[in-house]
Amino acid sequence: MLLQVKDLVAKLSESDKVILKGVNLEINPGEVHAIMGPNGSGKSTLANVIMGNPKYEVVSGDIFFEGESILELRTDERAQRGIMMTFQNPYEIEGVKLDQLLLIAYRKLHGEDKTFFQLDKEMKSILNDVSLPSEFLERFVNLGFSGGERKKGEILQARFLKPKLLILDEIDSGLDVDALRIVASQINKLKEEGTSLLIITHYARILNYLDVDKVHVYVDGKVALTGDKSLAYEVEETGYAIVNGSSQNA
Ligand code: ADP
Ligand code: MG
Ligand code: MG
Repeated sequence: MLLQVKDLVAKLSESDKVILKGVNLEINPGEVHAIMGPNGSGKSTLANVIMGNPKYEVVSGDIFFEGESILELRTDERAQRGIMMTFQNPYEIEGVKLDQLLLIAYRKLHGEDKTFFQLDKEMKSILNDVSLPSEFLERFVNLGFSGGERKKGEILQARFLKPKLLILDEIDSGLDVDALRIVASQINKLKEEGTSLLIITHYARILNYLDVDKVHVYVDGKVALTGDKSLAYEVEETGYAIVNGSSQNA
């Protein structure tokens, strides 16, 4: 198993507010999972806790990556193991160009396995895949990027850095249909190249374009229902009340 989240309870570090209330989730290598849930249910918090964001504190339960607990690891150590997440609201880094950031990050993750020439070529080829102009790599990270450019930029980073597990937090929010198709095709490509994915979303729309292994309905800090893609469409029809109408895993 690649990722196992086990009875995970987590709270804000600075208060007693518990947000994750016993999350269970298992992702095998090569699988694509989607998490759907209403606003404020704790989806972004789950992603942040998996990455080790110090804003949150694990109260009980565990997170295993490739069979080992990662709870004691810092965020950068988790990244080094091959876990990557994109942000619902990506940060801006003035003074750092995207290609510089990517090359440094690649070397840190994968060492010297490819020459600079190979990496440069690869970066440009991915840039083309996501339909971004070549000057995009010369710009400061996320600075003045449009919403769609940021999201494509995040996908470009993931394709280039090749994490074992990629967590996408609302990568589809605010994308027009063309950008959505591009992002979805890149997600499928990531899967083909061996990355496992956890896709956090409000809408079933992006799933139309994806090869998804499992859909989890997430309500009030835990996974309430698990199914295949059809579950996503049921949720879109019925709303999250679907959770109350079923006893499966609830
Ligand atoms: P979702 O991503 O499903 O919309 P979040 O994980 O962002 O949900 O938030 C879940 C709940 O926890 C919300 O009520 C939110 O206000 C609260 N919360 C999350 N992070 C923080 C934080 N850093 N400080 C205060 N409240 C937070
Ligand atoms: Mg939200
Ligand atoms: Mg969120």
